[in-house]
Amino acid sequence: MRSEASGVGTQNEESSSSDDSRAGEALLANLLANTTELLSFYDSDFRLTHYAARLKRLYGGAVVPGAAIWEIYPSFLDTRCRDEFLRVFQGGSAASIDLPRSSGEAPRSVFVFGTADGVGIIESREQGERSAAQEQEHMILLHQATHDVLTGLQNRRRFGERLQQALAAIGGSQPKAALLQIDLDDFKAVNDTLGHGAGDTLLQLAAGRIRDALEDGDSAYRYAGDEFAVIQLGKEQPAEAERLATSLVNAFKDPFVINGIPVFVGSSIGIAFGPEHGTDGEQLMKAADIALYAAKTDGRGCARTFNRSMLLLLEQRENLRRSLRTALERGELYLDYQPLIRPPSSVIGFEALLRWRHPEIGIIPPGVFIPIAEADGLMDEIGRWVLEQACRQALAWPSALTVAVNLSPAQFLSGSLTDTVAQIIDAVGIRAERLELEITETVLLEKTIDNIDTLNTLNVLGIRISLDDFGTYYSSLSYLKNFPFDTLKIDQYFIADLETDLKSQTIVRSIISLAHGLGISVTAEGVETSAQARWLIKENCDYLQGNFMGRPLGSEATGDFIRRSPPKGLEAMEESNRAR
Ligand code: C2E
Ligand code: MG
Ligand code: MG
Repeated sequence: MRSEASGVGTQNEESSSSDDSRAGEALLANLLANTTELLSFYDSDFRLTHYAARLKRLYGGAVVPGAAIWEIYPSFLDTRCRDEFLRVFQGGSAASIDLPRSSGEAPRSVFVFGTADGVGIIESREQGERSAAQEQEHMILLHQATHDVLTGLQNRRRFGERLQQALAAIGGSQPKAALLQIDLDDFKAVNDTLGHGAGDTLLQLAAGRIRDALEDGDSAYRYAGDEFAVIQLGKEQPAEAERLATSLVNAFKDPFVINGIPVFVGSSIGIAFGPEHGTDGEQLMKAADIALYAAKTDGRGCARTFNRSMLLLLEQRENLRRSLRTALERGELYLDYQPLIRPPSSVIGFEALLRWRHPEIGIIPPGVFIPIAEADGLMDEIGRWVLEQACRQALAWPSALTVAVNLSPAQFLSGSLTDTVAQIIDAVGIRAERLELEITETVLLEKTIDNIDTLNTLNVLGIRISLDDFGTYYSSLSYLKNFPFDTLKIDQYFIADLETDLKSQTIVRSIISLAHGLGISVTAEGVETSAQARWLIKENCDYLQGNFMGRPLGSEATGDFIRRSPPKGLEAMEESNRAR
């Protein structure tokens, strides 16, 4: 049974690959019942797993599931045959092996090929006299054993073989082999929102785009789930691998149209070169994987080539991860509070922003450690602490002021969010209307139906809900129709260039009028200048937040800020910003 806690990403990969394997099993069963080939498959312990009906008819009782390969083919106990067989078994390419024969016996040979978890054998009795039909069937079998059913690209097993061969051939005329590890960005979101059928279609379309970008000397593989790889041989490196990576990244910029819906799914790529970054397949894959991780953390939709400093970053992350486990109990986490202003200048509340005071590194921003906490399953507990802490802090403020708390997707997935929130506001003794929860669209992408219920329940409790960072993710208008938002927070990306960029102005103006039309208030995030503030006020933006209005403050400084408020409008803020 799959566990709920194993993460939706893995579940999707599992279910999509289990669909593949069901299709593969059905094909195989059909083939085994009807083939005229003497075909058999063995697992990694050389035990019989599948066999053709004809083989059973010929060999009788020896052919039972679990039989050892030498019970069927005693010739494999012969040293020469065994060595040749083991070479294929250990990842070498498929080979034909002549079996020793006693006098008077017809010549026999076996064709041995690798499969995902062992080997397959086709016995041939009339060596050299295979019919055209047999030859064709032989080729189909070989294709099935080495290709991915869903996309038609070569499979993981073949990838391992080819990578090993490529590395072995390096030297002389073959200076470098390049490995490009490709991972789709946001594939999980497509599976979650549009279903696994759409996910499978996307993988097929993605495989097509990868295939189209290849040139002579490049070969593509579907490695697992939404992970693909390309091996490049005999090329001028690193130039050619980088060129291919750029064209692959660009190939994923156009939307995929699935069931008439345009879907944007980018690709991130990690590049490594053999023998420089690895002399065997495993080492090289690890290097490409680290480079892929760097591409993902550098904003995705890009390619990165492995270098040693990436190892250092990985090590730092590992260290952080280890100390994050105890950060909460050691009291190293704390909250800053950033004022939310109703124009021109009254404080209506604060947003709680989490920080980590690491004993050696110093203050670490949430963008660095929250993703680690989420990946390690710590965010539920940390999130609960943040909620309680922020609600307690709000009690120290005048009762008209609100406190906004950011929620991470992990808190939604735990299933107990509404209970937790209700318990905390009850235990702290704060009115529900004073609490505002900020969510991003990534929360909405997961398990959408459950999340509507959760948001509705929170809404019924009287808690306000705001949609954070609006404009940066999918910005699907259906969210605005289906969820009970009180406020929409326009991402600072659109605010930063308001003064100079007419497009940003148009977008912000449209978001404000759209939200107002739906009865939703608007907050502008990241307001840094008085010109931005003035423009937003002119356009009827309800609330402003940003360094110009007030930077995030320590809890003890919030009291002072409130006492000084309301200052004498924007002019006073300009004055105090100049003085700083
Ligand atoms: P956010 O919720 O959009 O918070 C606003 C971010 O913008 C904060 O960054 C804030 O310090 C920054 N900011 C505010 N005014 C300005 C400005 O004028 N200019 C610029 N350049 N930046 C400004 P911070 O504190 O680094 O937080 C980053 C993100 O981390 C937050 O984005 C939020 O998504 C997440 N986060 C913070 N605290 C928590 C938390 O307790 N739980 C969860 N789940 N996420 C949190
Ligand atoms: Mg926020
Ligand atoms: Mg935001």
